[in-house]
Amino acid sequence: MKIALIAHDKKKDEIIELAKKYKDVLAKYELYATGTTGTLIMGETALPIKRMKSGPLGGDQQIGAMLANGELDLIIFLRDPLTAQPHEPDVSALLRLCDVQKIPLATNASSATIMLEALKSGKFFEARS
Ligand code: PGA
Repeated sequence: MKIALIAHDKKKDEIIELAKKYKDVLAKYELYATGTTGTLIMGETALPIKRMKSGPLGGDQQIGAMLANGELDLIIFLRDPLTAQPHEPDVSALLRLCDVQKIPLATNASSATIMLEALKSGKFFEARS
């Protein structure tokens, strides 16, 4: 099970809070993240995370390539819907690939919490099978 964690700058605090709260759950899986998100989460939780480039420098595309290759099982991407992103095309492409591959995607903290609770309880796997 491979999980990707990404957060736009104004959502970094929220993804750190989620990672802290669900540290024990996340620790069971292989974690990937865009550069800055990964660095911050590792600093706060000591979870091992494979980091890609920073999102605006191609990290979203690297995560997208993993998606295209069927290498990811869950994406938590806390987006900032109120700030224009220089790499918006990369963001859209990543979200689109989740739909192409039918990979569960949480784009805000509420939906991420539901996904992580489902992982914690084991219901995530029942629902996917
Ligand atoms: P970052 O990238 O984790 O390197 O900030 C996230 C993004 O903006 O896609």
